[in-house]
Amino acid sequence: MIDHVPLLQGSCFCQAISYAVSARPILSAYCHCTSCQRLTSCPFVHTMHFDASAFTWTHPEPHEFRLDFYDNILKPYKRRYRCKTCGVGVASHNYNTNRVSIWGASLDRDEDGKIVGWDIAKPTAHQFYGTRMLDVNDELTKWQGYQSNSDCLD
Ligand SMILES: [Zn+2]
Ligand SMILES: [Zn+2]
Repeated sequence: MIDHVPLLQGSCFCQAISYAVSARPILSAYCHCTSCQRLTSCPFVHTMHFDASAFTWTHPEPHEFRLDFYDNILKPYKRRYRCKTCGVGVASHNYNTNRVSIWGASLDRDEDGKIVGWDIAKPTAHQFYGTRMLDVNDELTKWQGYQSNSDCLD
């Protein structure tokens, strides 16, 4: 049963593209994989996975005026969406798992810059910690690969 009240909302940097999700994340983790590192030029990202049915674009249609995408030749079942104006990627759709992943830094902020809905969105682990670019000294579990699907590094 899908709850269509948005739990989380976000957008690209210039806000030309925006989205809402109506379910809690299936996975929420800091990802240290080499794809996330190279796609963002950052040491690691906060990623969340949702069932695709929980995700909707909320910017005005038609999408082709606003949305651009990139298909990784190594993962042709995965389409990464980015803004045509500012170039920031906010979501990708995996057609094998029918999950959408969202990078948490694109979530809406309150007037103090805090993420709205952080209790729902916040990461519960580090994944692909084996390819980390820096050590993180927090209490979260460190996984070699995907959370619960690989060797824990703790
Ligand atoms: Zn934008
Ligand atoms: Zn990753």
